[in-house]
Amino acid sequence: MRAVVLALLAAGCVKTGLPGRSHRGALPAADDALAESTARIGAHVHALAADIGRRSPVTSAKGLDRAEDYVADALTAQGWEVVRQPVEKSHDNLIATLPGSDGSLAPVVVGAHYDTAAYTPGADDNASGVASLLEIARAMRDDRPLRTVIFVAWTHEEPPNFATPFMGSVAHAQSVGEVHAALSIETIGMYSDARGSQHYPFPFSVLYPNRGDFIGFITNTRSRRLLSRVGRTFRTTEPFPSRGAAGPRWITGLDWSDHRSYWSIGAPALMVTDTALFRNPHYHEPSDTEEVVDPERIARVTRGLVAVVRDLASD
Ligand SMILES: [Zn+2]
Repeated sequence: MRAVVLALLAAGCVKTGLPGRSHRGALPAADDALAESTARIGAHVHALAADIGRRSPVTSAKGLDRAEDYVADALTAQGWEVVRQPVEKSHDNLIATLPGSDGSLAPVVVGAHYDTAAYTPGADDNASGVASLLEIARAMRDDRPLRTVIFVAWTHEEPPNFATPFMGSVAHAQSVGEVHAALSIETIGMYSDARGSQHYPFPFSVLYPNRGDFIGFITNTRSRRLLSRVGRTFRTTEPFPSRGAAGPRWITGLDWSDHRSYWSIGAPALMVTDTALFRNPHYHEPSDTEEVVDPERIARVTRGLVAVVRDLASD
């Protein structure tokens, strides 16, 4: 098996690692700003996963409607003008745009899906990602970037809409034009310091540690330059364990989120993730409740992502 992995690495179609070193040891003490961010993130996860619960067009279209209103209201309260892009029936993508000073440059897209699989309250998948998206938008409200930044909460990521024209991110990618970089914040809430808490699809199973205490940056071979840049910025700004991987699409799970929709228009795009089912035994289960996720570690990852988005929008 190792020989196959080495061959893939040598051929350049699998890239492992990120520039610099992953943070090791205890996380630094939380300052006031991090504590406040943690509280906001915890409140968003509670509202989506506990108060609303299922957000599936299959089992709870009403929950999906309530989530849509919750996210739109949260963005409006931050001062954004929210544009609704109809996707299917009454379900919309929610878009807030931070204009860049050079409107001729392709934008940066940052998003998270707010729907859930059919029978789960989706705290990790993906209230955690939506909470992070809302917190990034909040942090950047008064920024004046060079490139336009588009914040988008996608609907209809989960089956039966995944990879169909009714997937929210497909609708957005097909309408947005050229994209400089797209980030999908997908299931970022669960962490464990225990050995054996992390699994991987082949070939990464041979290459990575078995402790699920890190955030992952996952992409395709074509987006490996974006992966390096994102990894460098994250590691130099946020003391939090991180891992990265780029590989061909046949690797299980590599394209299991909305970043795939931007690959389809030729844009560099990656997924930010705790690796979902490769770590979280509650993935897509009724037990994916708010107790599963760690708002403080989400807040730390989010702080790093703010630096990442600012960097991507700066040239
Ligand atoms: Zn998801």
